[in-house]
Amino acid sequence: MGYLEMDLTLSDEAKAMHETIRKFGLEVMRPAGIKLDKMADPEQVIAKGSVLWDVIKTSRELGIHKRGIPKAFGGMLEDMDPKVGPRMAEEMGYADAGLSICLGVSAFPMTFAMMSPEPELQQLVRDYCEDTKGEIIGCWAITEPDHGSDWILGTNPKFTDPKCAPSVRAVLKGDEYIITGQKSAWVSNGTIATHATLHVCLDPSKGMQGGGLAVVPLNLPGITRGKPLDKIGQRALNQGEIFFEEVKLPKKYMVITDGALMSAIAKMILTNANGGMGQAFVGLAQAAYDEALKYAKERVQGGVPIFEHKNIKLQLFNMFIKVEAARAYARRMAAYNHATAPNGSSPHAIAAKVLSTSTAFEVAHEAITIFGGVGLTKEYLIEKLFRDARAAMIEDGENNALSLSGAEDLI
Ligand SMILES: Cc1cc2nc3c(=O)[nH]c(=O)nc-3n(C[C@H](O)[C@H](O)[C@H](O)COP(=O)(O)OP(=O)(O)OC[C@H]3O[C@@H](n4cnc5c(N)ncnc54)[C@H](O)[C@@H]3O)c2cc1C
Repeated sequence: MGYLEMDLTLSDEAKAMHETIRKFGLEVMRPAGIKLDKMADPEQVIAKGSVLWDVIKTSRELGIHKRGIPKAFGGMLEDMDPKVGPRMAEEMGYADAGLSICLGVSAFPMTFAMMSPEPELQQLVRDYCEDTKGEIIGCWAITEPDHGSDWILGTNPKFTDPKCAPSVRAVLKGDEYIITGQKSAWVSNGTIATHATLHVCLDPSKGMQGGGLAVVPLNLPGITRGKPLDKIGQRALNQGEIFFEEVKLPKKYMVITDGALMSAIAKMILTNANGGMGQAFVGLAQAAYDEALKYAKERVQGGVPIFEHKNIKLQLFNMFIKVEAARAYARRMAAYNHATAPNGSSPHAIAAKVLSTSTAFEVAHEAITIFGGVGLTKEYLIEKLFRDARAAMIEDGENNALSLSGAEDLI
């Protein structure tokens, strides 16, 4: 038994599940992520025949998409040992961080569809659980061109300035909401999603506190998409704008209409999203450390493997300490937030996200020093890990903005 699997309380079933995800990560996600990262045009990532679709399809066949959904909807939540979730997230982040986010965010709209009493939305969740082909894909549409960190800091009840009101507006007319506005190019899966969790403004006079949340089928008339975003890291994670022009959304799809409730839900969403990031990016930190250790044993300078040089030894051990500390904290945070679900603790989740992503970045950066010049080339995985880790420090909230939000909650 390896160190990472060591847990005397894990059942054989849980261990088998962990092993399945590790295999899927190393055999399917990792090679696909490398291939997708090298594609010059992000349109190629989502083109017919791209390996992205093989990853999504295999994850569906394995049932990864329904791990957080209760059995009543066809999911497997009750069968999941809470200790396995963080390990699965670590394995997927280890394999390819961008793809792990692509797969994770896909289930987002289902969380809110489940909250609705509407039979149509409940059926959507059942269809999603049964979907083994990747025909139903979700996204989380929150960021707008004019409102990025506003959404992160806007969960604070003090954030009521009408100047900061979100720009995607929904106005109730009879039995329909008319939706107008634009979500930014940062929407993960925005280019391929069939359904969105859409954050809207219902009452601009209340600023960020006048929000609502809808589950939106993205084939409604008036919805269009932008071109896939071309960015430096997590290139396997396709992202793009979503435009809404006088979109008529049946009233039943607006799941949350109460501004005060919406603020509490937004906090819960950030807690869950950041908790997940905290777990996944420990995986990336581990991957960067593993690559550096492997290279240090292979590369010979001064007549010996560079691992024999004291500076390299000390640097590797320092990286090892950082990864172990981040993982221990992320797992502890996950256990605490599971025990205190559905709210969990936002400062703990944010602390895990900030710690894991900055650890991943620092470890990848230090690994490049160990690689020397070749660490900067496309020949080795480490430069991709470095780019993927950098993107994570902005993803789901720039780390400083998140820390400000977490600090408010401490007070
Ligand atoms: C890989 C990746 C995946 C993402 N996925 C999604 C997704 O699925 N869905 C989605 O909707 N969005 C997504 N995002 C967007 C992400 O949430 C935003 O980029 C992030 O919240 C920061 O917003 P911004 O880029 O507009 O930066 P800005 O808000 O413009 O911030 C710029 C700088 O100013 C600082 N700043 C801003 N406001 C304040 C303030 N009030 N006080 C102090 N400092 C402040 C910030 O800390 C930051 O350093 C993703 C981003 C990345 C990188």
